[in-house]
Amino acid sequence: MHLLAVPAFADNYIWLLADAAGDAIAVDPGQAAPLRAALEREGLRLRAILLTHHHADHIGGVAELIAATPVPVYAPADARIACADHRVADGQMLTLSTPAVRFTVIAVPGHTRSHVAYAGEGLLFCGDTLFSLGCGRLFEGSPEQMLASLDRLAALPDATGVCCGHEYTLDNAAFAQTIEPGNRALEARIATVRRLRAEGRPSLPVSLGEERASNPFLRIDAPAVIAALSAEAGAGATRAERFGALRRRKDLFRAATA
Ligand code: ZN
Ligand code: FE
Repeated sequence: MHLLAVPAFADNYIWLLADAAGDAIAVDPGQAAPLRAALEREGLRLRAILLTHHHADHIGGVAELIAATPVPVYAPADARIACADHRVADGQMLTLSTPAVRFTVIAVPGHTRSHVAYAGEGLLFCGDTLFSLGCGRLFEGSPEQMLASLDRLAALPDATGVCCGHEYTLDNAAFAQTIEPGNRALEARIATVRRLRAEGRPSLPVSLGEERASNPFLRIDAPAVIAALSAEAGAGATRAERFGALRRRKDLFRAATA
């Protein structure tokens, strides 16, 4: 299988996964034009669309794409995703024949209440739930929900290639360093990402093992992360309270730097 990150808008990725014959699926086509251009350039045929959540930057291109090329559209049950004709739910095995791919659907509420991720083919399409060195904002979920969602994703094999919805890695790196300045795996990841971005390449996919070693939102039980959050979530704080404190601190960090 051949994986391609198609840039859209300012920092979105539309993911394309194609077999050797040129049959492809697209994940989260927020825009039609860049995907169409990539399909044409690569000589691929779009066969199905998978959607992770209802935000416009993830579904906005679907209507235009299926008007030109009718293909099945898979999405979680949510009235805000009107363009989908196949609904997926937690635990479901999604099996397509062309291309021949299989994904497990994982419900990951937190960023939005109906957000799902697709795990399979050694990959994880996680939309705006898990980012490299970060995680999505809690628009519709509680810290408890998001932490439980991230715990489920983090339990996948280390070699899983994490395919996120946005190129936020360098931004996230600056915050991650304030939490775990002595983390060698984080330093190594940042060096890799700086090189990739300088070459104009995506920082993704990244292995889940690397993320578990460097992403503070997956390291809520690491002593250095616990220590970094002691002012807001001290001794006796639950994991979810620590996670909530970490996410709030990131929100403030963004507000201060953006
Ligand atoms: Zn989103
Ligand atoms: Fe998004």
